[in-house]
Amino acid sequence: MARTEAKPLWDGQPEGRWFTRIEVTSMLNGAMLALPLHVVTGRKPGPTLGIVTNTHGDEFLPATAIRTLLDTLDASALSGRLALISVANPLAMANFGRQTPEQHGRTDLHEVYPGNAHGNTTQMIAAAITEHVIRQVDALIDFHSGGSGGRLQARVDYNSQAQGEVKRRSLELARAFGQPFVHENEFAGAASHHANSIGTPAFNPEMGGSYLGPENTALYQRQAIDGLNNVMIALGMLPGAAKPPRQIHFDTKARREIRPRQSGYLESFFERAGDLGKRVAAETRLGQVIDLHTLRVIETLTAPVDGYLFFSRYSGVVGSGTQAFAVADAALATWLA
Ligand SMILES: [Zn+2]
Repeated sequence: MARTEAKPLWDGQPEGRWFTRIEVTSMLNGAMLALPLHVVTGRKPGPTLGIVTNTHGDEFLPATAIRTLLDTLDASALSGRLALISVANPLAMANFGRQTPEQHGRTDLHEVYPGNAHGNTTQMIAAAITEHVIRQVDALIDFHSGGSGGRLQARVDYNSQAQGEVKRRSLELARAFGQPFVHENEFAGAASHHANSIGTPAFNPEMGGSYLGPENTALYQRQAIDGLNNVMIALGMLPGAAKPPRQIHFDTKARREIRPRQSGYLESFFERAGDLGKRVAAETRLGQVIDLHTLRVIETLTAPVDGYLFFSRYSGVVGSGTQAFAVADAALATWLA
């Protein structure tokens, strides 16, 4: 168990829900920068599962799914505790973006853990989450989704740098979450990376997205809630049994990103939830880029290898170099039974 000397903020809370705000620092508008902490304490003892959402401010699907989960979770059936930060970077969210709008480098909260209480504002936020959540929990979910720009995702990431038992446990929990793809990824500076470094299993769902319309939003919210329930079952926090589905496993060597070389309007040929997981042959046309000034097609985007589509985008404007699609190379990917 990776625990610090300091007691958790929720120490002594009775069964049921509790809410508080973790104060970080004052802002120029006179308000306090504070992080919302939701806690559900179960009737029986058990592990504490930490969940962090909105590390990137435009990824709000996980928080809305968890709102539904918290409204329906029966604390009397729960063993242990849930501790959730629903908006990890309020400044990024207020800016409708991924990063903290401050006048210094290191503004992506996803890259600055464990943070620094005497660093810049982004590092202060990370330090507060490290102190009050990451170092107080038995497992951590660093929950991401597609954000603005119509990104569609359907995978769970776990940390390639973890070793031994913590890596095995991280993969087990990632699989329990149940998305079609499991990605052994590299994310130095992420909350889950820091959790692993102190012996706590952790993983990052990267699923669903923002502004995807009612059908896809409902689909991904349901998948998010099912995934969290299955992780709690795997941790022994809820009764029941859950077997992970067949999943495609790949690492960074198998990852092929398709990025337009020119800016324009991306007409996507793969923008349905069911398109993720599809096998695409090399040279399959994934989309095309239209110059909205000349109204001509200026680039065609194709699959570089025979593989499985694990990331795609809705049609819309893209800047050059933006990730538009991504494929897991079938020659390097494996099926997990
Ligand atoms: Zn993210």
